[in-house]
Amino acid sequence: MNSWDCASEQHLSRERQKARDLRRSQWWRNRIAEGTCYYCHASVPPSELTLDHVVPLIRGGRTTRGNCVPACKDCNSRKKDLLPVEWEDYLRQLRDRDNSE
Ligand SMILES: [Zn+2]
Repeated sequence: MNSWDCASEQHLSRERQKARDLRRSQWWRNRIAEGTCYYCHASVPPSELTLDHVVPLIRGGRTTRGNCVPACKDCNSRKKDLLPVEWEDYLRQLRDRDNSE
């Protein structure tokens, strides 16, 4: 299977189904119970944390525990709207902000 096949419609629907299952798992409940966004470290009520794929499914990412993180709605929508390079910039800004605090 090459990388093109990975981002096929079949890959997407299979991994999205896995994400739905993962969201119901105890592991995920424990992750969001911490109430912290993986990206901006904001304190967010568990009900407002979304499951985000660090490597997006569309880019061949998979629904594994290592690739799924809790993200606040702000970060989640930014990640969707921004180009990958712009998203990297945003993360860098967050890191700089954390370092200066
Ligand atoms: Zn966030």
